[in-house]
Amino acid sequence: MTVTRFAPSPTGRLHVGNIRTALHNWMLARKAGGRFLLRIDDTDADRSREEYVEAIRDDLAWLGLRPDGEERQSERLPHYEAAFESLREAARVYPCYETAQELELKRKIQLGRGLPPIYDRGALALSEKDRAAKEAEGIAPHWRFKLDHDTPIVWEDGVRGKQKFDAAQLSDPVIRRADGSWLYMLPSAVDDLEMGVTNVLRGEDHVSNTAVQIQMFTALIAAQHKGAAMMPEFAHEALLVGSEGKLSKRLGALGCDAFRERGIEPDALVALLARLGTSLPVEPIAERDSLVETFDLSTFGRAPARFDDGELDRINAALVHRMDYADVADRLPDGMDAAGWHAVRPNLEKVADAAGIWRLVTGPVPVPELSDEDRAYCAIAADALVWGEDPWHSLTGRLKDATGRKGKPLFLPLRLALTGQASGPDMGELLPLIGEAEARRRLMAAAEQG
Ligand code: GLU
Repeated sequence: MTVTRFAPSPTGRLHVGNIRTALHNWMLARKAGGRFLLRIDDTDADRSREEYVEAIRDDLAWLGLRPDGEERQSERLPHYEAAFESLREAARVYPCYETAQELELKRKIQLGRGLPPIYDRGALALSEKDRAAKEAEGIAPHWRFKLDHDTPIVWEDGVRGKQKFDAAQLSDPVIRRADGSWLYMLPSAVDDLEMGVTNVLRGEDHVSNTAVQIQMFTALIAAQHKGAAMMPEFAHEALLVGSEGKLSKRLGALGCDAFRERGIEPDALVALLARLGTSLPVEPIAERDSLVETFDLSTFGRAPARFDDGELDRINAALVHRMDYADVADRLPDGMDAAGWHAVRPNLEKVADAAGIWRLVTGPVPVPELSDEDRAYCAIAADALVWGEDPWHSLTGRLKDATGRKGKPLFLPLRLALTGQASGPDMGELLPLIGEAEARRRLMAAAEQG
């Protein structure tokens, strides 16, 4: 069974990049008939906030990405402790006593000599006695995971293809702080193993974390850590950049709230993000099943995916034009019924724009300034108005016969008189909504103006 997870840290709102990762994990699970987990990475108690946990849940609900389960790292501390013990017994973690300043100094020296700033494993060389002395001085250790330098790290990445790392070129990662709290690396690996996560799909900023975590997975499996199942498969997607080609601040701050306020439908955002950066065409597809069916990691490119607001607006408009009344009813102006929605829908970019157009129906509309000839024409129109199945076409048909007008001179004065503006929704749909008495009143008002 395929199990994916989306693992945000609740230290802020989701932005468009996280949303995309969440969506792809959801699609990957849906396509395989598997499970999609929400994992709240809240081991950093200082920076994690409950309001963000709630916002993350709300955002996923708004997007229609329902998790099949939710886990919280802060409730799983005993699991990390147990894994840590397994690794300690296997001599894969070791205590370190350097201060941040000492480490910084080592880095500077290495860099100054043109060497990569890899941790020198100074703490591994300490004897039992040295360690006891440090502890006697009251220095609590932080802990590093000991990478296995002899085994090359290799994996077949779902997006990037074959990946190779030399463990000796990496620093042994700090996994636990001196106060006992956890850094991201180990808890994530423990959770992926214990929760039976089969596919880790995340941004390419995590590639080097994966290299390290693969060794953690291997060590935990070898140590027969309780609940440790199989190593997941990994895929790292190219990052999202703004249309200007950079990872902009603006993009990092763009979340569901901002989209919602701008009148963007969740389906539009999903349709765009589902295929952005893949070889599949980005299309206004509202049906999640169709998106899920075509989801395929092999279509993902390695070049950064460009997020373009204009493209999002176009998809949004195309989807709004197709939305059913039932989907939007609670967001429409008072009195607007299904017929009203159908009339205005093709002219909208956002659902909220319906209110402005609806005012053309409910009025009052400004009385246009027309030439004498057009005013006389409106008077004839008021007389010729006969209410029936399709009042607009019967009106314009009669006026054409009666006046010989056609094209713009036939239609424009009527539109101006009936709506107060020169362009707008299809009159064939609008006129029945305006109603006979009001339509005649508007035509007469235009005829009598001036
Ligand atoms: N909490 C991590 C992050 O936000 C999760 C990364 C992962 O998917 O493993 O980057």
